[in-house]
Amino acid sequence: MDIKTSSVKTDAMTAASDELRYPIETPPAPDQAIEVAPGVPWIRLHLPFRLNHVNVYLVKDGDGWTLIDTGIGNEATIAAWTKLFEGPLAGMKITRLIVTHAHPDHVGLAGWLVERFKCSFYMSQVEYLQAVYHQSRGTEDRVLNQRMFFRRHGMDETITDKLLGRGQDYLKRVSSLPPFYHRLSDQQEISIGTRTFKVITGGGHALDQVMLYCAADKLFFSADQVLSKISPNVSVWAVEPEANALGEYLTSLASLSRMLPDDVLVLPGHGVPFFGVKTRIKQLADHHEERCQLIADACRAAPKTSAELVPVVFHKHVLDPHQTGFAAGELIAHVNYMLVEGRLEAVEQPDGVVRFKAV
Ligand SMILES: [Zn+2]
Repeated sequence: MDIKTSSVKTDAMTAASDELRYPIETPPAPDQAIEVAPGVPWIRLHLPFRLNHVNVYLVKDGDGWTLIDTGIGNEATIAAWTKLFEGPLAGMKITRLIVTHAHPDHVGLAGWLVERFKCSFYMSQVEYLQAVYHQSRGTEDRVLNQRMFFRRHGMDETITDKLLGRGQDYLKRVSSLPPFYHRLSDQQEISIGTRTFKVITGGGHALDQVMLYCAADKLFFSADQVLSKISPNVSVWAVEPEANALGEYLTSLASLSRMLPDDVLVLPGHGVPFFGVKTRIKQLADHHEERCQLIADACRAAPKTSAELVPVVFHKHVLDPHQTGFAAGELIAHVNYMLVEGRLEAVEQPDGVVRFKAV
C-alpha cells in the first residue's frame, strides 16, 4: 500500500471557535489516497455532475479495512477503484462496507464492492429500504403522482414533462444492491479496529443518514449532513408530499451542535475535511432561515405558489429543468417547514393549485 500521509495541522484545536479551518488544502488526486488521521485514508471519486466528486474513507479495522461509501455505480468509478486497488491500495482487504445513505453517489457500487471483497455490508434500516424502493421506481402511477405533485405546486407542465422524462436515472447509477445488510441504528456503538464510534443518524438530506463519531480521536464522519462549502440538498418529493424534511434537518443540526465538541475533524462526503463544526452548522441553519424570510416576505405581498417562489429564493441562478426540479423540491421543503411552524398558511385554489400566504 502506498498511502500519502498528510500534515493535518492539529493547532486547529486552539483556533478561535468561530473560524472554519481546512487542514488539508489539496484533495487526493484520482489515483491517490491521503491519510487524514492515523489509519484513515481519504479517497476522492469523480461524479459526472456539477458537484464533480464524492469523498470516501477507509478506516483500519484489525487485519482489514472498513470502507465508508462507494462512489457512483458507473464504469468510470469501477475503473478508478480498479486502478486504486492495483496501485496505492494494492493488497488492501476491505472487510466491511458502511454506506451512509441511499443516494447513488454513496451506495452506487455497494453490490460491486461486496461481491469483490465478500465483505459485510452495513446501512441504517431506513436507508437500505429506501435504496430498495429506488430499485423499483418509475411505475406509471408513481410518475402520475409526481405530475400531480408538481401541478399542485404550480409548476410549468413543459418543465414537468422534461423532469419526468428523465425516468430511471437512479437505476443507471447503482450497480446492484447487496441482497442483505447489517443494521446500524442511532446511538449504537461500533468498534472499527481499535476505535469506538457512535452511530448518529439524521434526516433532512436523506431519510436516516448515518454519521460516525469517534470521541477519543475527535473524528466525525459527517456524510452529507454537514458539508464544508456547500449546503446539502434538503428536498420534499412526491412520495411524501407533506414531509417536513427541513424541520428534520434543522433538528439534526441542532442535536449535532450540542453533542459534538468544536475541535472534531469533520470528514464530509463532499468538499474537504475541516475544523469548526459548530460554526458550519450555524452557517447552514442561518442559510435556511434567510430563505424562509425571503419566502415570508414574498407571501406577505400576495399568496404565491411554490413555482412562483422558486425565482424568489434562487434569484442568483439560471436553472435547467433538472436543477428546477431540485430547486422546487428544496422550495417545498421550506414551505412545508413554515406551514408546520405556523409561518405560512395554505390557500387551496379551485383549480387544485395551492398558494401560500404569510401568517
Ligand atoms: Zn447525498
